[in-house]
This record gives sequence, C-alpha cells and structure tokens, in this order.
Amino acid sequence: MKQALTRVVVASANPGKLRELNALLQPLGIEGLAQDALAVPETDEPHPTFLENALAKARNAACHTGLASLADDSGILVDALDGAPGVHSARFAGEPKSDERNNRKLIEMLRDAPTRAAHYYCVIVLMRHAHDPQPLVAEGSWHGQIVLEPRGGGGFGYDPYFLLPELGRTAAELDAEHKNRVSHRARALAALASRLIAL
Ligand code: IMP
Repeated sequence: MKQALTRVVVASANPGKLRELNALLQPLGIEGLAQDALAVPETDEPHPTFLENALAKARNAACHTGLASLADDSGILVDALDGAPGVHSARFAGEPKSDERNNRKLIEMLRDAPTRAAHYYCVIVLMRHAHDPQPLVAEGSWHGQIVLEPRGGGGFGYDPYFLLPELGRTAAELDAEHKNRVSHRARALAALASRLIAL
C-alpha cells in the first residue's frame, strides 16, 4: 500500500501550511503538490464540524486532480462558549475576516465567564482517491486559557490571548520553532505521520 502513495495534492493555499505538510511528507517519500499549482478551485467549508470540512476540501482536491489528497481544518474552541468560535474561528466577527475583531469579540464574550479554558484543534485527513471509503484521519489538540490582555508578537489569530499555563506564556510569546513542535497542528501532523508509516 505504501509504495502506491508517492504523490498527494495538498488542499491548502496557505504557504505556511504547505511547508509544514511537505516537511512531514518528504521523509516518507511522498511528494506534496500545492492545489493552486494544479488549478483546483477552492471549495466552501459549510459544515458544522472540522472533520466534515477537511473531508470536503480533500475530496474536492482529489476529484479535480485524480490524485490522493491531504487537507486540514483547525480552529479554537472555548469551553464557556460550548466550543465556539469552533469552525467559525476565522470569521468569528464576520466578513471581512479580521484577527483583531475576532479577538475583541471573544474577549467581550468571556469577560464575566466563570472559566476561560480553551483549546486549539486540528484535524488532517488523507484520501487515497476521491471515493476513498476509509480516509486516514489524524487529530491534535492544544489546551490553554484565554487571557483578557494580549501578550506577545508572534504567531497569528488568537495566539496573543491563548495562554499556556504550564509555560507561563501565550502562544504569541513562543518562538515559531517552539510553537511548531507543540501546537495542535504539530500533534495532528505527528499522528498522521505514524498512520502513514503504518500503512
Ligand atoms: P484554518 O484551519 O487555517 O482555516 O484556520 C481557521 C482559523 O482558526 C484561523 O483563521 C485562526 O483564526 C484559527 N487558528 C487555527 N490555528 C491557529 C493557530 O495556530 N493560532 C491562532 N489561531 C489559529
């Protein structure tokens, strides 16, 4: 099975993600091709779960290329908000998407909350073909607390407000190399690597 999987189309237009995913695939002898380079049109992400959205993106890329495909979906889930912003993390405060407005809305909603526990979540799926009935699914979570004042200049999105209590720092205060070792995406990628090796 492993020999058959030598190329996958990566269903993302984000250069950072493409780099991370390629770094995972390369040692496994799998070439990752950016979907933009193969003229794959972007698909909607209308579903209420990360898994469904990742599957939709992977299926779309496999359909348009006839290749195996890899897609991820991620966001932040806050306990006191029943998992919101969740799949709406990128556009929590509406269009056009803005990290600043998303964070402001989140902080306002949490100001009087009894707990500000939250976690980032990432799911990655690999489909061997567009009709693959058994896609590989790997997940990663990263737990922390939302703070009301931003700290740090690194990362993106909700990172300045996402405190890792065991480190005493927000995700935006970690250097990129540190974040890329411990984040939800890193954990999902590591889980996917073990699944691929076991194929
Ligand atoms: P996507 O999976 O790239 O579409 O990410 C969805 C949204 O989740 C992003 O736009 C961010 O708002 C949020 N998000 C996902 N991962 C991170 C992260 O590592 N740091 C900060 N925000 C993130």
